[in-house]
Formats: sequence, C-alpha cells, structure tokens
Amino acid sequence: MPHSEPSSKENASSNSTAAGFLSQFGQSETGSEAYSPIPAGYVRGRTKFVVVIGTVMSGLGKGIFASSLAKLIHDKGLRVAPIKMEGYLNIDSGTLNPYRHGEVFVLEDGLETDMDLGTYERILEENLSRRNFITAGQIYTRILERERRGGYLGRDVQMIPHVTGEVKMKLRELAMNDGKGQIDVIFVEVGGTAGDYENGFYIEALRELAFEEGEGSTCFVALTYIIEPSILGEQKSKAAQLGIKRLMEAGIQPHIVACRAKNPATEKVMEKIAMFSNVPRRRVFSMHDRESIYVIPDAMREGGLDREILSFLGLHERVNAAHEDRARREWSAFTDKLAAPRSREITLGIAGKYTSLRDAYASIDKAIEHCSIELGVNVDVRWLETSDITSSAGASKTLADIDALIVPGGFGSRGIQGKILAIQHAREQRIPFLGICLGFQMAVIEFARNVAGLTGAHSTELEPATAHPVIAELPEQKLLEGIMGGTMRLGAQDIQVTPNSLANFLYRGATSVRERFRHRFEVEPRYIEQLTKAGLIFSGYHPQHPIMQILELPVSMHPYFIGGQFHPELTSRPIHPQPIFMGLIAAAISVHEPEFASTALGRRWVRSSSNARAGSGL
Ligand code: GLN
Repeated sequence: MPHSEPSSKENASSNSTAAGFLSQFGQSETGSEAYSPIPAGYVRGRTKFVVVIGTVMSGLGKGIFASSLAKLIHDKGLRVAPIKMEGYLNIDSGTLNPYRHGEVFVLEDGLETDMDLGTYERILEENLSRRNFITAGQIYTRILERERRGGYLGRDVQMIPHVTGEVKMKLRELAMNDGKGQIDVIFVEVGGTAGDYENGFYIEALRELAFEEGEGSTCFVALTYIIEPSILGEQKSKAAQLGIKRLMEAGIQPHIVACRAKNPATEKVMEKIAMFSNVPRRRVFSMHDRESIYVIPDAMREGGLDREILSFLGLHERVNAAHEDRARREWSAFTDKLAAPRSREITLGIAGKYTSLRDAYASIDKAIEHCSIELGVNVDVRWLETSDITSSAGASKTLADIDALIVPGGFGSRGIQGKILAIQHAREQRIPFLGICLGFQMAVIEFARNVAGLTGAHSTELEPATAHPVIAELPEQKLLEGIMGGTMRLGAQDIQVTPNSLANFLYRGATSVRERFRHRFEVEPRYIEQLTKAGLIFSGYHPQHPIMQILELPVSMHPYFIGGQFHPELTSRPIHPQPIFMGLIAAAISVHEPEFASTALGRRWVRSSSNARAGSGL
C-alpha cells in the first residue's frame, strides 16, 4: 500500500475490502480486542515522539513552546515534524471566526488550519501539509465513512480501539513520510488542556502509542502554569500540581515538566512540582516570560531541555554537530539583529475588519516584525477602523500620521467604502501601500473608479448588480484550478512575474514565484486592458490563465504601490522576511530618511527610478 498519501481517503486496494483492511493490521474477521493500525513497513521505535500537553489552562503558548523545542532538535540535523491535534469537530479551520480563533492559516496544499501551524512553519522554516494537522472532525469522518462501507465487519465501532487507533495511524503515517521522507522525531501538540472532554481520546491514543512503541520512544512534556497571586506576592505550585495530576489520572506520567510563569520559577516551586509529579528535578524547567519568543530556543538550550529530550529518547548518536553549529550561527545572527538598538521608527496603518483582535492578523503582525528586525526599525502598528472613514477628508484625517498602509484580506462588506477611500488617499499622497487579497481587489476598484473612469466599479461579492464588475467570481477558472474545500481557490500557486517590474525587483529578479491563496473573487479579465491602459500594471499573473495576481503602479506615479491577490504574510519567516513586506517597510523608511536608499539594505529593498523600467502586465 502506498504510504506517500496518508489522506482521509482510503487509498489502497487492500483497504477496499473489510477483511483486507483488517489484515493490514494483522487482524482477522474473528476479531481481536486490540486495534492498532500500523502502516506496512512501519518499524516500531524508529521514530520518536515528543508530546506536549497543557495543564491548568490554555493560552500558555504551547505552539511556541513545542515549535521552539522542535527547532532545537531540527537544528541538530534530525528530521522533525510537528502535528497539531484539534479537539473540535470541524474538518479544518476554514469556517472558524477569526474573532474567536485567530487567523486561518493556509498551507501550501490548501488546507486551512489553526494559526499555530504558522508558528511551526516560521520557527522551523519548513512548509507543512495536511499530514501535520488533525481535527476530531477528520478522524470521525474517516471512521464513519468506513463504517457505512461495512468496513468494521459487524463490530461495534468504539472510541477505544477505533478512534484511538485512527489517531495512532495518522501519527505513524506521518512518521514514515511527511512528504519528504522518514521522520526522526514527531512533536505532537494536543489542543486544549489535560482534563478537557474534547481531547480525551487524543490523550488516550498517545498513552497507547507510548505503550506500543516501547520504552524510551515517547517523551511526555507537561506544560503547566505557576500562579503568582498579587495578594501573596509569591509563586504557588498547587494549581500546577493538580493540573499534572489530571494527566496522571489519564495514565500518562510526564517525563518533563515545563513551568510557564511570569517570573522565573523558584527553586522551591520546582522542587515541589518535581516531588508531586514523580519527575526528577533536573527535568523540571522554568519557562518564564521573555522579551521575545525568538530567545526561547536559546533559553531552552541553556537550561538543558534539548539534552534531556535527546537522552530520554536515546537520540544523541543521530546529532550532526556541524549542522547544529551552522544553524546556531544563523539564528544568533538573527537574535543579534533583534537585540540591536533601533534608531528608526515608522508608523504603519492596517485597515482591517478585526482591528480589535491582533490574532486575527497574526501572520501580518509577524511578517512586519520580521522586516522590522531585518531593517532595524521600530514599527508602530496602528489598527485603523475603516467603518469610520466616510469621506476623503475622513481618510486624510485617519491616515494623517501614517507612513505606510496595509489593507489586509477579508470577507464581507463592513468598512469597504472606508478602505477604498484610504487606498485613494495612499495612492494620491504617495504613501507606501500594500493591498492583500481583499486589499488587492479594493485597489483595483479604487483605480477603476478614480483613474480609469469606470464609475461605480465594484466587486460582485459586495455589489452583485454593479455597472462595472472589475472583481468577479469566475466559475470557469475554478474548473481549471485544483480546488480543495468549498469553492475557494486555496493553497500555493505559481505566479509569473514581469521582468523589470517592482515585483520582479523585490523577488530578486525571479520571474516565477509561488505564494499562497485563499479567495473566491478575482480581476474580471475583460477589464484588464482598460485598467492597464489607464496605467495600472499587472506584474504577476497565472502562467496559463488570465488570473491577475500582483498589481503595481509605475515608479513615476508612486514610490511603492503594490497588491497581491495572495497572502504574502503566510510565507514570511524570521530569517527570510517576505519581499513585498520588506519593500513596504523600506519604502516607508526612505520617506523619512532619503539617505537610506543608498545604504546596502536600501539598495536591496528600495527601488529607485533608475532601476525601474516596468513593463505592462500581459
Ligand atoms: N473576499 C475576497 C474573495 O473571496 C477576498 C478574500 C481574502 O481576502 N482572503 O475573493
């Protein structure tokens, strides 16, 4: 059976009959109480597992903790793969409200996931896939579909062994192949906290996994929280003890305890936790608040957390010291930049819909942070409420102190008119501008209305009866694209970039790049010529179909006006900030500091009129 494709679909002929399905796991129709699906060729104990489970409360930064730990092991030259297990019944995160859950993160293969996958991609500098994310909804769907096909041969389908078996299967499939090959260590992050009803079957599956894989194969890490009530002025360990006990009641003995706390966990508290949870004191670590998440990997290493993991899992001999040296040098260069004093300062406005909740734009926030570190600038981010902008005067007032403007992605009509007015102001006043997805579409509409003379131009998403549907849903194109889930165009797509354009300059001369998409509407092809004639440049487009993917204005009209139908924020990484964001921040710096353009960084990121000979899009 092929194991390169562990999708939710049954994919092998041997699985198509119930007997075949069972025999794959060494079971017969007479039945066995055990149900431990194991992919063919799987070697027990070869791949190790580190399982991070939160106790006491959620919101402790489990994703940041697990990804930093995974990075340390990854840096040593081992192949690591994270997997996030969500307790909810949704199949993916696509339908979740960003107000409640934070942004929807889109993977290369088009899966819409929790924002934690973004943390893993950024910290590990790796692209993940649907192999790295499971929800209860996916697991149950897989089981119920099989049950309807008669796949369980008259057995009653139960939480144990069937649901837990499915979870283990998914983990073992990932162990054998994450899309690039065999994995040394899988980092499992269980959503929620120990004791939650929703994640109970994951915790049970992991307990079974540890038992089946054998001693020294699965390291359980309890991430707990040390309270420090202001009325007492000292740390108390009781909540942590009780939280860890919940895990032990589920049959899991943690091997490592990581104590989240505001201040460094005291020796007294860590000793108590060690004693009450049967964990040697040397495996209890303080994970107190730091000034930046990027110093966490180094702090973990200094505390010896990576060493304890390697020893427990018996992995010391797989370490590649040269690889680790290289990775550490690269990361130190980054953290040095992070710590360097910054004299520059710019103000960046983001005209979004969920301005009251930063997590709704987590990746944009991160992309800006990556650029600010690389360019040595403090970026004061202002979240602008566009529902309040109803006139040009209003736009100019709201944008008065803004050095650069981002109009991010979104759905629905709230604040749309304000966004268009804000873009008009940025275009006319030569304020560096970046339009993302919906922001790109609004920039097309603004240009159509105010420059190309297409009065009343709009998107059919927002005004179905518009006289000039410059943005429209084009079903025939959807038939040509790989579409997963709903009718949205999701995941990574190729973009052909016009030579000598701003985009081409930012992407270091590349004429073909890949970015991630999540949209339903796009530029209506019959307006392309008219828009282009009026001066708009479509400098990035689909290699085969007339789907416009990057727009820009010539440098003669504007120092930095660019938009992407995709989400550039999803591919920004700490050490490799996303080019379009870099260009935006660099352009904003050079408004204040024209000399910046002639520095080494400036020459790389600020396009001067001398190197700009932008051609037209098509
Ligand atoms: N609502 C727009 C569309 O579906 C933009 C989507 C987005 O910004 N992600 O095309």
